[in-house]
Amino acid sequence: MNAKELRERLTLENILTVMETLDAEPIKNDESTYTMRTICHKGEKRKLYLYANDESYSFHCYTECGQLSLFDVVMNHFEWEQSEFHKCIEFICKVCNISLIQTGFGKESNNSTLLDLSFIKDWKRKMKSASRSLIYDLEKPKSYDLSLLNMFQNIYPVEWIELGMTVQTLKKFGVQYSTQYQQVLIPHFDIKGELVGLRIRNIDMETEQRLGKYGPYKLFKRFLNHPLGQHLYGLHIVIPTVLRKKRIMLVEAEKSCLIAYSLYQEESYVVALCGNTLSDVQRNLILMLDLNHVIIALDRGYKVVGSDEYDKWVEKIKRGFVERLKQYVKVSVLLDTGELLSYNDSPFDLGEDVLIQLIDSKITVN
Ligand SMILES: [Zn+2]
Repeated sequence: MNAKELRERLTLENILTVMETLDAEPIKNDESTYTMRTICHKGEKRKLYLYANDESYSFHCYTECGQLSLFDVVMNHFEWEQSEFHKCIEFICKVCNISLIQTGFGKESNNSTLLDLSFIKDWKRKMKSASRSLIYDLEKPKSYDLSLLNMFQNIYPVEWIELGMTVQTLKKFGVQYSTQYQQVLIPHFDIKGELVGLRIRNIDMETEQRLGKYGPYKLFKRFLNHPLGQHLYGLHIVIPTVLRKKRIMLVEAEKSCLIAYSLYQEESYVVALCGNTLSDVQRNLILMLDLNHVIIALDRGYKVVGSDEYDKWVEKIKRGFVERLKQYVKVSVLLDTGELLSYNDSPFDLGEDVLIQLIDSKITVN
């Protein structure tokens, strides 16, 4: 049993009991709404609302915190750090008289996770025995407790499946979904498999227009963001293949990395930059891997081949990527010099046939 299962198990009565225990003094407003004191931020006003619809419950704090889950409210109230999430579970179980032992919570709950982490353990073991040159000396980024991923569901939007991502791949990369916020959650790991951030892709059109397509995930009032240029998305999974084939392919979006893995699984050597630039850290990370070949496969950043926009794009790839890599490693660029892709399409967006055509016509610069 994990946090997700606990949430599914909690009844309205349980939730109200938790709120009463925290002195929120909940009062029934109408059939499905309760109002109470804003204990989420130690406020006094009765501006914390609980909406109960068909077994789903959500809170909204109208003075400070915005939309919250029961876990958020409890965590905020006690000002617990994310790493203390197990305390939140224990507290709720205790108040609602749900046995920790029976449900499998307790000590092992710290380590419980929906993710299959065996690959990380494997990787860590390999890292230990790998050559010293692989141990990179970046300032250790802040990492998060993996159990926070327990709060979400292993369900995926159909749009993503239709784009060519398999459920198996999404699971492998720990992609989750929050039904409450209609967001796809994309955990970001560093090369060693430490969780370093959580990005969201908004599915709800209104939210997308308000907040954009992608963004950091907000949890307990904090954004779980991290400097995207510090990592290569997906590297912790494809690293054995990257080292074996001595090559890496750089794409822009997480999505393209996930499509690539869906197509080629253990043969994939595709990682995402999470943008269309190569940071110094990313460049050094690539050079440290001591590869033979780097393939740049960005989205089509121009509408018309041969236009000023096209020239600028080519120049950007030259200066930002090629010039900074070519003295160390063979560099190729996938560039759509025809009409295979539309503006902003990734080479992975239109299926394997298009991808193979682009790979076959790749430009090798050295
Ligand atoms: Zn609040």
